Amino acid sequence: MNGRDGRRCKWWSPPAPPERWPYHRRVNILTNADLHCHSDVSDGTLTPEALAHRAQGNGVELWSLTDHDEVGGQHRAMAAARAIGLPYLTGTEISVSFADVTVHIVGLGFDPDDASLKAGLASTRGGREARAREMAEQLAMVGIKGAFEGALRYVGNPDLISRTHFARFLVEQGVCQDTHEVFRHYLTEGKPGYVPHRWARLGDAVRWITQAGGMAVIAHPARYRYTPTEEYALFSEFKEHGGQGVEVVTGSHTAAEYVKYADMAQEFGLYASRGSDFHSPEESRTDLGTLPHLPGALKPVWEALAHRVILPH
Ligand code: AMP
Ligand code: MN
Ligand code: MN
Ligand code: MN
Repeated sequence: MNGRDGRRCKWWSPPAPPERWPYHRRVNILTNADLHCHSDVSDGTLTPEALAHRAQGNGVELWSLTDHDEVGGQHRAMAAARAIGLPYLTGTEISVSFADVTVHIVGLGFDPDDASLKAGLASTRGGREARAREMAEQLAMVGIKGAFEGALRYVGNPDLISRTHFARFLVEQGVCQDTHEVFRHYLTEGKPGYVPHRWARLGDAVRWITQAGGMAVIAHPARYRYTPTEEYALFSEFKEHGGQGVEVVTGSHTAAEYVKYADMAQEFGLYASRGSDFHSPEESRTDLGTLPHLPGALKPVWEALAHRVILPH
């Protein structure tokens, strides 16, 4: 009964399921799940509590906060979601180095107190400060002084100074109009302020998530500059390590990329995820809960993770 493009038909919408149904019967491909966003515990600008309210206000029906390399906001996000009646999945986004490219692996539905996961994330965060100091030195060489201290003023979590915080400082200084322009001229490969970094290994990141009871998901695959062979290697090795999901509909993909990665999800037998990657009302082009639905033939990650959803009651 759904429209061909996977949206609800104008003349028919599914009846609301009774509240007493078990949760797995209340979710389907049309559930407005947003399983990727950032708070000020990493490089977003809103608190976990403000994000929970924004998600609900935008019609999100299942939410996850996925801060970079950090689970420090999970209990706050969970409590805020519970208080307003919003179903929640725990989340994080782990920085990984694979074939000399930084890849992001989202983890969903894990135990946020798992000791190995927390230790792995702490080791991944380590080195960010030294990297940031080197970034500032490079920027100083092109005449931008005080970038380390300047970026720090935007940091909510001193353990997690990121390129986003430098980007905000460069906008503040009038070097660029907005953060998107910053990433075109600075902080990326071949541009001033870019410092290559060794992040976690793919297998380690996938294992930290899965051993904590969660599902590993390849984040925004279209963003990586891989040849088709390298991309195939990423998907194959990810599966071999126990990874089970891929983001298909994300704020980082075009409509053509939804189609490409829907095909890849089916080819590799992966569950499909959907998430805005919202960081900030001023900077993000995609708000929480506003993306199109997943293409109809896919299996959503939230059906496989229904038993891990934290329900308000
Ligand atoms: P880091 O983990 O310090 O390398 O910072 C990565 C973050 O910078 C990403 O999560 C994005 O929030 C932001 N970022 C990286 N590249 C871009 C880009 N091209 N445009 C906008 N934001 C970007
Ligand atoms: Mn980010
Ligand atoms: Mn990412
Ligand atoms: Mn992200």
